[in-house]
Amino acid sequence: MKDAQENSLQSQQEYFTECIQRHPDWVFAGMYTDDGISGLSIRKRDGFNRMVADALDGKIDLILTKSLSRFARNTVDALTTIRSLKAAGVAVYFQKENINTMDSAGEFLITLMSSFAEEESRSISENVTWGVRHRYAQGIYHLPGLLLGYQRNQDGEIQVDEARARVVRFIYLLALAGKSSTDICRILMDCGIPSPGQGHRWEPHTVRSILKNEKYMGDAVLQKEITADFLTKTRKPNEGEAPQYYVENGHPCIVSKSVWQEVQATWTDASRRNCTFSPIANKIICGECGGRYGRKTWHSTTYRDAVWECNSKKAGRTKCKCRHIYAEELDTAIRRSMHHLLKTHQIIIPDCADLLSQAPGEISSNARSVLNDIARGELDIQIDGLMIGILIRKMVVTPKQTLVIHFLDGTTYRHRLGATPRGTRLYNTQRDHSRMLALYAKGCSAKEISQRLGISVNTVRSFLRRHRGT
Ligand SMILES: [Zn+2]
Repeated sequence: MKDAQENSLQSQQEYFTECIQRHPDWVFAGMYTDDGISGLSIRKRDGFNRMVADALDGKIDLILTKSLSRFARNTVDALTTIRSLKAAGVAVYFQKENINTMDSAGEFLITLMSSFAEEESRSISENVTWGVRHRYAQGIYHLPGLLLGYQRNQDGEIQVDEARARVVRFIYLLALAGKSSTDICRILMDCGIPSPGQGHRWEPHTVRSILKNEKYMGDAVLQKEITADFLTKTRKPNEGEAPQYYVENGHPCIVSKSVWQEVQATWTDASRRNCTFSPIANKIICGECGGRYGRKTWHSTTYRDAVWECNSKKAGRTKCKCRHIYAEELDTAIRRSMHHLLKTHQIIIPDCADLLSQAPGEISSNARSVLNDIARGELDIQIDGLMIGILIRKMVVTPKQTLVIHFLDGTTYRHRLGATPRGTRLYNTQRDHSRMLALYAKGCSAKEISQRLGISVNTVRSFLRRHRGT
């Protein structure tokens, strides 16, 4: 290992000597090395420190270095050094990346680094504990911050910190299931999961920022904020003073793009705080007016039913042609659609299975058992609310009396809404009794009575049984 390191140092020296000889107008100012030192912090890298001091003294105007990761192993150090060298008119050339800090690619690099450094410095300032500062000063690389779920390896590359990435995935999962940031905080604290600052307490704004951060799907928007003064950590929103860049798949993702985009499209933090969570709420959409369906209870002299209907009806606007749906009918449709999904589309199930299996805590034990059923090929499953929240994107009621269920993987399932609701009416009045008896007396079967009155066949049968018994 030591040999390999020396060899590589020797070959680097040969490379750079040759490189300098190829430029007759260049004057060799010196070779600065930190032989065999892993060089995690500036403090221990004497060669590096001498080089920077000489450069700032005006003895050097171009620094050739192998790679960014060799130059400095944490973003804050690298950025601070590059900035101060640049301000002094000293260029740094990174051989591996083929980047010169003085040209536009160099600007881009600095921007990319700033983006991560901002998160680093933010998490550092959020964690002003002696322990963190002490470890940081010693250059021990395990930074608590960066971004929850990420860490750097030996070469300074950003990689996924699996243990904490599970927490991030769990948060996305809960958001897909429709939980508000306050709910999510409560669940995380109930599960005893430490916050990004390693404390017990989770704040809704932390959860929101995790759910909104495109870095979790492997992308990065650069220069969302610009740093007015990096050292004093003053930042302001970028209002067009500096260019913004979008880097796709620049680093490993923690959640898939489809999961991230789904959260952006459907998750809202507002107005869910005071109502009981229903996985179905907000997912049924009227195909005519685009409004949401709400759950109501219909009362009349003859029946009492739980139904879902377009909210425009309540608002007193013109009635939509889209039909109401009986709660039981909806259950049937969802159940069938789930079976259809499980039989035909295996694309998103593994995605969700991954999410669920990596979710800590007890909160998803139902969903977990559903996935176990799926794994065993048992399709006659109890559909769990969390699963519905995750797998179904929306359900659209069309004016043609069809319920179109859209899944997260982009596929759909169409369920024809029956002309008469089956088995949803509750008979609870004397009038229903006498109508059933009248039809029975005419020789109608229980099934015919059920169809004609819209009362479930079991209800009719049990009524007739009791009637015959008395
Ligand atoms: Zn409507």
